[in-house]
Amino acid sequence: MRRKLVAGNWKMHGLRAQLNEVEAIATSAAANPLVEVALCVPFTLIAPAAAVAGTLPIGAQDVHEAESGAHTGCVSAAMLREAGATLTIVGHSERRADQHETSHDAWAKAAAAHRAGLKVILCCGETEAEHNAGRAERIVQSQIEKSLPDGASPDWLTLAYEPRWAIGTGRTPSLDQIESMHAIARAKLRMMIGEAADGIRILYGGSVTAANAEPILSVENVDGALVGGASLTAARFVPIIEAAAMASARN
Ligand code: PEP
Repeated sequence: MRRKLVAGNWKMHGLRAQLNEVEAIATSAAANPLVEVALCVPFTLIAPAAAVAGTLPIGAQDVHEAESGAHTGCVSAAMLREAGATLTIVGHSERRADQHETSHDAWAKAAAAHRAGLKVILCCGETEAEHNAGRAERIVQSQIEKSLPDGASPDWLTLAYEPRWAIGTGRTPSLDQIESMHAIARAKLRMMIGEAADGIRILYGGSVTAANAEPILSVENVDGALVGGASLTAARFVPIIEAAAMASARN
């Protein structure tokens, strides 16, 4: 049985003035033990967020693959740990698009994060052009093949399927499309790591809101959500946590 995970991704949002939102989200997380909740905040907010988050895990949105060195502007996994992070996102589509990160980069970053004791949310997902060309399946299979780190295990690795065209657009795939892509991702994981694949959570990400969370989170093989815009305030994020709790209770 995979416990659902609802992870917020604050992207480049969040100053200390928003720590009250972190506290309110932490309170809701503690009140919904059926669901695991995490919040991935900007580097600068990791330490202050961890200080007010209680048992709510605080994560980063990226990590460098090297342990240290001449990498101006980058942050290592050990630095994230020291700041109070317990997990990190890698391979997010905004980093693939803006920083030209590849699946190989995501692989190296996931491995570095794991070596330092961080949990990892590894993202994959096709672009709109790839989707329209009927290439979503092959793209996602190839991304998983190239980015799944050695020793991938449910203890520390979560996969997030995020069709790029659904991120921040208010558009989502149909429930059937989500089910089909998650089944494809699960099958690829099984091919690569066997039975351990059945324990790995596969999150859906892309314009999840309070209005669509419950049906999406009830789809087979959807083990939670990676939520961007709607995670920025407790008012918008807490209903998604509660929807995940409802979907879990019905399973
Ligand atoms: C994301 O940042 O991973 C994301 C899914 O964003 P949004 O929920 O805003 O589409």
